Amino acid sequence: MWLVVIDAQTLENPAAASVPNPQPVRRWTPGSCVWCGSAESIEVFRNEPRCEVCREHETVIDEARKFMGMYGLRPIGGTLQSDDDEEREWRVNARDARAALNQIRLPEPPDPALIRKSMRPKAARIVTAFEAESAPARKAPARPRTASSAPAPAPTAAVAPAKKLDVAALEERVTGLLDQLTKVDTQIGLAEAAQGLAARARLNDLNSQKATILRTLAALEKARRSAGE
Ligand SMILES: [Zn+2]
Repeated sequence: MWLVVIDAQTLENPAAASVPNPQPVRRWTPGSCVWCGSAESIEVFRNEPRCEVCREHETVIDEARKFMGMYGLRPIGGTLQSDDDEEREWRVNARDARAALNQIRLPEPPDPALIRKSMRPKAARIVTAFEAESAPARKAPARPRTASSAPAPAPTAAVAPAKKLDVAALEERVTGLLDQLTKVDTQIGLAEAAQGLAARARLNDLNSQKATILRTLAALEKARRSAGE
């Protein structure tokens, strides 16, 4: 498998194989991509910070995997042998994406505890922005309305016993939520580009999902701060 990868790259990009890497050993720094160390367009992907290039490659592989699963075909990896051109194309794309990922991989994977810690500032920033955005709305003249218009107390209640919370478990939930936020944001982008009533309904639904995620994030972040006293 490794030989296949090298061969494919040598054929497509002879320079990459023949020129020795002149860069010093790359090391992970907090906030950068946990796979390749890049700091370009970092988003949370599968609970970890990943750069745009990595996310694109991972998505290509995921899609190929989904395609094979959908038609009950042999899982990706191994040979490219396929029943038709479409299947082959998926396999080739996934193999190329995997090869590209292998090529940019950091020599040493970062420590998961350090990764979780590095995601705190992002969570804190999102929460601060969310609170700043929603604060003026709460200060608006209180109109006697239904109870549903009050700030939702549910997430706060859910994390009320903050002192008893395990900080690591809390951070894991936060990174899970950041991951969800990335996915919802991507789908919001797609829905905004689409036209029609169905797209608008979908956009509303996505925006309310996003608001729920942000509220929960804010509650968790508060709990984390008080648990970390
Ligand atoms: Zn990356």
